[in-house]
Amino acid sequence: MKYDLLIVGAGLYGAVFARAALDAGKKVLVIEKRDHIAGNIYSEKVEGIEVHKYGPHIFHTSDRTVWDYVNRFAEFNRYTNCPIARYKDEQYSLPFNMHTFYAMWGTKTPQEAKEKIEQQRREAGITEPKNLEEQAISLVGRDIYEKLIKGYTEKQWGRPCTELPAFIIKRLPVRLTYDNNYFNDRWQGVPEDGYTAMVQRMFEGAEIELNTDYFADRDKFDHIAERMVFTGMIDQFFEEKLGTLEYRSLRFETEVLDCANYQGNTLVNYTEYEIPYTRIIEHKHFVLREQLENPKTVITKEYPAAWKPGDEPYYPINNEKNNTLYEKYKALAAERKDVIFGGRLGGYQYLDMDKVIAKALADLKEI
Ligand code: FAD
Ligand code: UDP
Repeated sequence: MKYDLLIVGAGLYGAVFARAALDAGKKVLVIEKRDHIAGNIYSEKVEGIEVHKYGPHIFHTSDRTVWDYVNRFAEFNRYTNCPIARYKDEQYSLPFNMHTFYAMWGTKTPQEAKEKIEQQRREAGITEPKNLEEQAISLVGRDIYEKLIKGYTEKQWGRPCTELPAFIIKRLPVRLTYDNNYFNDRWQGVPEDGYTAMVQRMFEGAEIELNTDYFADRDKFDHIAERMVFTGMIDQFFEEKLGTLEYRSLRFETEVLDCANYQGNTLVNYTEYEIPYTRIIEHKHFVLREQLENPKTVITKEYPAAWKPGDEPYYPINNEKNNTLYEKYKALAAERKDVIFGGRLGGYQYLDMDKVIAKALADLKEI
């Protein structure tokens, strides 16, 4: 065997493993089918502006170990995510907080807002929410559901809210304070010199082959290292012999504009169903100092898309059918003592970056 460890996929999960193995003096080969490292957190400069190619990424965590870990590889700025929601000609602050309630109803105190939500909740008569629609109405009332949730969610997932699980919406904070910070976590920010530079430092000293798909030469890669970390699709690894797992995809349209400040904020969500994209990202606002200096700006429209095999699998669809199938693949994976399945595709689970790092560190400990 030429290597101690083969890592399939140069994303964040692979990078944590690579760093640990290299620090332990192991010989590591990383293969990546794309033409760059960093997976979905990849960022690159366009017109001097760091552009998040696969969607906006904000690092946030309450896990001190993870925060200390990432700070070894990057300096984080103090970016705080405060998205705006547009519905027709109305505009609101996110997440749902006193600014949102004031714009929606004119309520100024927490008590007034609370009463308004309570009233709408009573009118809907929901005791035990069975789906996303019922969950949303019982959290924030019908007005906010109709204007800020229904259209956005149905575009995002391609299904009516009555057919979606309630848990999706529980991620969003609801606050009776004037606080537009989207996240509740203790630490938040974006690497000063971009995510790619951060991941580059994590991989320092590794041999990396880009444009290399594991499945293109499986026989060779199966005999090249003592052990493998596999961060691709788990069903593809087992030749889909039990069935195909489903995903939701995305399409990104990026443009350079001759304007210094297009929307005044990194994220503007378009919550009405009729507008085909869910949000517009203006990348320069991630890095505060770049805001007004550059006469140009780069924006990306994010369109939700159906997924078929061969498309980029962004979000696993964790419904009962797919979860049951995944459990079967997981049982097969457990028999492969020479392979560690990890990351969002290897584990068929949406994970924020901090959770990916925490999982990789825990998996490392286990082996
Ligand atoms: P990936 O980044 O997908 O890396 C896996 C790599 O493996 C890829 O580069 C892939 O090309 C490669 N690969 C796959 N199969 C093969 C093969 N057969 N051969 C060779 N290489 C292969 N998280 C946050 O914390 N904050 C956010 O704000 C945030 N925003 C997000 C926005 C969007 C739109 C999306 C989709 C995700 C967001 N995330 C966010 C989650 C974040 O992207 C993930 O946590 C992270 O990218 C997962 O890393 P990974 O290594 O598991 O997977
Ligand atoms: N959501 C919504 N309106 C918004 C933003 C989010 O209804 O303006 C809902 C939507 O169902 C989404 C969920 O909240 O899937 C989680 O949103 P989050 O921003 O956490 O996730 P992402 O949109 O990045 O998947």
